[in-house]
Amino acid sequence: VPVGEISAGQLAGLVAGRHFPLCMSVMYERLASEHHLKHWGLQQFSLFLKSIGLPLEQALLFFRQQFAPRTPGDKFNKEYAYNVRYNYGQEGKRQDWSEWSCVKIINQEVGGACAGAGECNGGCPYKTYSAEQLRAALSRLNCNDKVIREVVDKARGKHYQLACGLAFEGITGSPQETGINKPSEYYASSIELATQ
Ligand code: SF4
Repeated sequence: VPVGEISAGQLAGLVAGRHFPLCMSVMYERLASEHHLKHWGLQQFSLFLKSIGLPLEQALLFFRQQFAPRTPGDKFNKEYAYNVRYNYGQEGKRQDWSEWSCVKIINQEVGGACAGAGECNGGCPYKTYSAEQLRAALSRLNCNDKVIREVVDKARGKHYQLACGLAFEGITGSPQETGINKPSEYYASSIELATQ
């Protein structure tokens, strides 16, 4: 289990190891099947990958590979690489942008968290998924059934971050003590458990 800097080649294993929060694991899967993310999805996901230790060159490699063959490499370089480089502070204001907080992800209007078919535009699935979609997504992650019911109740009550913390417990078998305010906190807690 990697700690610190990660490479593009490790991402599939991290998703399969269930170390990503649901917002990011569904985005990863949808990107793999659609070979595209909408603008805000790409922003949300690339800033998350940056925050968990994926360097810029590896991020460009990963997204270029994933966007192919739908987007050829030269088109990717022209139309999408700027956004990724911008997020890493290499374009525009050259600001070292942070990952989006859960509150920002939850409140963004344009997201849909892959709730509909087709390309994903980011968002928090605990907010945007139907109860049925949530149950199916958590079952695929082998989340404990009793916990899935509790997660769905929390999500119905609009307690999205608490739902995410409970899902962590249902998936890993251990409580997430600190609360989840950023997607990288879910990842860090999961990696910490796996390396204990
Ligand atoms: Fe992602 Fe945060 Fe929603 Fe969890 S609560 S799925 S980390 S946005």
